[in-house]
Amino acid sequence: MGISVLKEKCIGCEACLSSCPFGIIQMEDDIAMIGEGCSLCGSCVDVCPVEAIVIERETPAEKMSGYKGVWVFAEHRDNRLVSVTYELVSAGRVLADKLNQRLGVVLIGKDVSGFAQELIGYGADEVYVAEDPLLESYSDDGYTKVMVDLIRKHKPEILLIGATIVGRSLSPRVAARLQTGLTADCTGLDIDENNNLLQTRPAFGGNIMATIISPNTRPQMATVRPKVMKKAEFNPDRAGTIIPVEVNLSSGDIHTRILEVVKEVKERVNLDEAEIIVSGGRGLQNKENFKLIRELADVLNGTVGASRAAVDAEWISHHHQVGQTGKTVCPKLYIACGISGAIQHLAGMQSSDCIVAINKDPDAPIFDVATYGIVGDLFEVVPKLISRLSETV
Ligand SMILES: Cc1cc2nc3c(=O)[nH]c(=O)nc-3n(C[C@H](O)[C@H](O)[C@H](O)COP(=O)(O)OP(=O)(O)OC[C@H]3O[C@@H](n4cnc5c(N)ncnc54)[C@H](O)[C@@H]3O)c2cc1C
Repeated sequence: MGISVLKEKCIGCEACLSSCPFGIIQMEDDIAMIGEGCSLCGSCVDVCPVEAIVIERETPAEKMSGYKGVWVFAEHRDNRLVSVTYELVSAGRVLADKLNQRLGVVLIGKDVSGFAQELIGYGADEVYVAEDPLLESYSDDGYTKVMVDLIRKHKPEILLIGATIVGRSLSPRVAARLQTGLTADCTGLDIDENNNLLQTRPAFGGNIMATIISPNTRPQMATVRPKVMKKAEFNPDRAGTIIPVEVNLSSGDIHTRILEVVKEVKERVNLDEAEIIVSGGRGLQNKENFKLIRELADVLNGTVGASRAAVDAEWISHHHQVGQTGKTVCPKLYIACGISGAIQHLAGMQSSDCIVAINKDPDAPIFDVATYGIVGDLFEVVPKLISRLSETV
């Protein structure tokens, strides 16, 4: 498999040189030579006037053979695993059980083996630990190379990565190197009757939920936003295997260097970790009325959320927005006041444990996901709730 130049056909016209997006084609003795790093994109094949460049690709059957197991990339930051790692290990466990396969977790970094036992307690069967001083800080080059080498060697069938800043940078690079599909920002994962991964995510501007499969390539790669999947219970008695990985990396492989990390200081609305969220929507009518939402949130010791309509109307800052283009939240209690329940809003809150919806329209879609629905005018219902809860909470 790979790319080659047929020397007897090459006429040294140099047409392929400028076609290569990576600039890795050079002329040697009037013959085109393709250097390291070719992604087999085929641009040079298309421009060659004499068909002197050929790519041999794997057949679909060859591409699919030998892949087994579910893998999760374990992201960590500031000496802690990030929350989405636990959520993906828990979701990966469910998928692995459905497939009757094993769950592997990949830990990459420097001095990270201490996380391995914890990952086993959350559901991993194997934890691959790739440690190297060059991997101390995340780098696209270093982490992609280690991940791709591991996948080529062990051939997992499914790879889940958090849709974080790191995950969104790593996953397309890995997918491109492996020439496989990637579904970003999934909100649901399942297995179909042919053992394909069902990857559900909002599509066409969030107007529909699309379920995507990758039937012709492996691994099947998906990113999932934090707080979409539920974290499982930790089981200290679970057994698993920790597999140290030999890292084949040199400083020349990494083309960027972190000189300093500067953390952005910004208004922090802790929606991610809030256990109670009270959200307001267009039904509040104006900015002043948002104080009702704040009062209800205060009395419950909760955090204020909002629909995009309320944010767009500038009644509240975008840090509070819940939904597809806002935060994904999973509190114990989510109270939606004057929010219709558009699919893009639901995408960010429907996995909350208990949803209370207050809306004067009995047909509002928010009631389809609500645990408790109150059909009524929020300007009557919310003050009554505040006054009753002030007595009891
Ligand atoms: C690409 C894309 C991304 C998007 N991302 C997001 C996102 O992240 N988050 C998000 O929220 N939206 C998002 N949207 C917008 C989304 O489609 C809806 O427009 C938005 O969620 C509507 O907000 P709302 O429910 O507050 O307003 P509306 O849909 O106008 O609903 C207002 C509700 O208030 C009720 N109401 C009115 N008065 C009262 C009253 N006195 N008492 C009780 N109920 C009352 C009404 O019956 C109605 O159901 C996105 C849209 C697109 C296209």
